[in-house]
Amino acid sequence: MIPAGFDYLRAESLEHAAALKAEHGEDAKFLAGGHSLIPLMKFRLAAPTALVDISRLAELRHLEHTDGQLRLGAGLRYRDLESSPVVREQVPLLAAAAATVGDRQVRARGTIGGAVMHGDPAADVPAILVALEATLLLRGPAGDREVTATDFFIDFWETAAGPDEILIEVRVPALPGRAWSFQKFRQRSQDWATVGVAVQERGDGRHAVGLVNMGPVPLRARAVEAALADGAGVDAAAARAADGATPPSDLRADAAYRSHLALVLTAKALSEAGAAR
Ligand SMILES: Cc1cc2nc3c(=O)[nH]c(=O)nc-3n(C[C@H](O)[C@H](O)[C@H](O)COP(=O)(O)OP(=O)(O)OC[C@H]3O[C@@H](n4cnc5c(N)ncnc54)[C@H](O)[C@@H]3O)c2cc1C
Repeated sequence: MIPAGFDYLRAESLEHAAALKAEHGEDAKFLAGGHSLIPLMKFRLAAPTALVDISRLAELRHLEHTDGQLRLGAGLRYRDLESSPVVREQVPLLAAAAATVGDRQVRARGTIGGAVMHGDPAADVPAILVALEATLLLRGPAGDREVTATDFFIDFWETAAGPDEILIEVRVPALPGRAWSFQKFRQRSQDWATVGVAVQERGDGRHAVGLVNMGPVPLRARAVEAALADGAGVDAAAARAADGATPPSDLRADAAYRSHLALVLTAKALSEAGAAR
């Protein structure tokens, strides 16, 4: 449980962070909250030679509400999201999901950027961002680019980000007053989700459904969404929740149990969000 040796480098600005990363190459990693990276290092699943600490950069801590969307700096912590009156009013699903992550200590350190860049399908916020059709702003040596959350997650712990790219900002549509629900099943109060289901009423009145821990990437339950659009009721729509999903089997639950759980949680979430009659 002791990581391999590494250099610790504190970035003073985004520009400085990029320069340090370029100087130390692919074996260097950005450090945000450290709540995914440091455990990986302790288990020797990662052994970066240098950590570039971006956790104190004010340039990554903005929270703006403009043009019908929220622009969330990648360095915002779960605690910032769950306690922000703007997030709670404009995207309550995101605030509510952030409030379920780990315990207070995890939420005080872990960042939205770290959750996205780590690319863990068992994490809560990535599935919310896929359901919300969020856009990610990345900055790398070739300049800035935008990627949709849907296109960003490629496989287990694998994303579309290049090794030198920094996630700057997450953009989500403001959806005040729209119905939503987040159902997270876990064995103990602060565990990760065995399965999670997010339902969000979109601006056009249709419903998006996101799944946590139901495959190698955060998923949209497209079959549920299509059934709802065709006028299906809660149970008929929820019965499609595991269509196309490839949930993992592990010590907490096997794939069949997770598939069943997805149906149960989707029915609850659809009912709570008033998504079907
Ligand atoms: C006890 C415990 C319980 C937890 N429970 C949950 C839970 O219930 N639900 C859940 O979703 N998560 C849970 N987590 C994970 C937690 O959410 C992590 O904090 C989060 O996944 C990673 O965020 P971080 O800021 O700590 O990132 P870090 O660990 O610092 O970094 C993670 C990865 O992202 C990269 N990175 C970070 N920021 C950037 C950036 N801006 N640009 C480029 N690369 C970047 C790093 O280089 C690293 O590869 C838990 C963690 C712990 C330790």
